[in-house]
Amino acid sequence: MPEDLKKADAVIIGAGVIGSAIAWRLAQANIRTIVIDRGEVGGEASHAAGGMLAPLSEADSAGDFVNLCVAGRAMYADFARELQEASGIDIEYRTEGTLYLALNDHDEEELERRWEWQRTAGLNVKRLNRGCTLKLEPRLNPDLRWALKFPDDHQVNNRSMAAALHQSARSAGAEFITQCEVRRVQIESVSGIKRVTGVLTDQGFIESDVVVIAAGAWSSLLEVENHQVMAGNKIKPVRGQMVAVEMPSPAINHVVYSCRGYLVPRLGGLLIAGSTTESAGFDKRVTAGGINAIIQHAAEIFSGFDQLSISEIWAGLRPRSKDDLPVLGLDPGVGGLLYATGHYRNGILLTPITARVISELVIRGQSSIDLKPFSITRFLRPEAAG
Ligand SMILES: Cc1cc2nc3c(=O)[nH]c(=O)nc-3n(C[C@H](O)[C@H](O)[C@H](O)COP(=O)(O)OP(=O)(O)OC[C@H]3O[C@@H](n4cnc5c(N)ncnc54)[C@H](O)[C@@H]3O)c2cc1C
Repeated sequence: MPEDLKKADAVIIGAGVIGSAIAWRLAQANIRTIVIDRGEVGGEASHAAGGMLAPLSEADSAGDFVNLCVAGRAMYADFARELQEASGIDIEYRTEGTLYLALNDHDEEELERRWEWQRTAGLNVKRLNRGCTLKLEPRLNPDLRWALKFPDDHQVNNRSMAAALHQSARSAGAEFITQCEVRRVQIESVSGIKRVTGVLTDQGFIESDVVVIAAGAWSSLLEVENHQVMAGNKIKPVRGQMVAVEMPSPAINHVVYSCRGYLVPRLGGLLIAGSTTESAGFDKRVTAGGINAIIQHAAEIFSGFDQLSISEIWAGLRPRSKDDLPVLGLDPGVGGLLYATGHYRNGILLTPITARVISELVIRGQSSIDLKPFSITRFLRPEAAG
């Protein structure tokens, strides 16, 4: 480990979109930040994602989570502009919106439920009949019954975003160490008060008073010395497989969901179909069954899907906490230890807001948003133990 990388003001474990965005904000505030990744920058879930910024398509009820997602979504237009200025990379922020189709009786019930709670919560959701839906997207299944439109559920190219965050963070002064595994977060206890002293990696020790765990699906594997707060599989991997095909002509322009799958059009001429939701441990293999299911569900949305030429298939691991909510904020028992993990299906959406609140905590000790619902302490309550 070179001498100048042996000490930092803040160390971030994980160079996905979450770790890189936090590093960018900290470096902008002149905090000497080192990001460590055991693989490549943005090489895991951040690479695998679909890039949808879709709280209304994803959330099942009103509450703290959808509020966080909507607040994060509102930051995106400025975030994309700022990233482009800082990195020169266009993250393809697209604002056509998202359609959610009812294709059978079950879907109609589900969409009615969404329509009710979202309207009651004052969210921007529109109800479209079959004709209006097909006018917007003539390539969709002509047998669709009706649809919801979420005009504010947008999308980005997550792979470009990971590259732009890396570039922006480096330009602001953050250092990235790749192919380097963090083995342990080191802690000292003085007069009963615990605080972090740095991280032990397979290339040596890096001293730091601040350590942020942004290790995605692997966060619970990290050993935090003498302190078991992240143990007990609080974050588990959930595999998602994806298929990208060549875009048909004329193109599909909206993100389109059904209750069973989704299509995401990319500017570069690809149409991405997703996804599976599987407990397969840390196994990232693509399976015949997974791809078959995705193609069937995509063909329900757009009946010509199975005739399109496949460009890429892949799988990634979503970091899921026990209650599906992210884990954000300070550790209550160890000074200088922070969590930015468990973003599950919405880590791309939640990147700007996570970077904001975590950097606020590091820089001034408090965040502009109440993070209590997302605190690690919810797993420390007796009823949540186990
Ligand atoms: C198929 C699929 C589709 C998705 N679609 C969407 C979507 O449309 N919209 C959305 O908002 N979200 C989506 N998500 C979720 C989103 O991708 C994740 O929530 C987000 O990428 C999490 O980012 P992260 O930086 O926390 O994790 P990751 O990108 O996984 O990064 C974590 C990093 O930590 C590193 N690491 C782990 N352990 C160590 C260690 N001990 N030492 C050093 N480095 C370590 C890993 O190598 C990795 O690079 C999707 C996910 C999948 C899999």
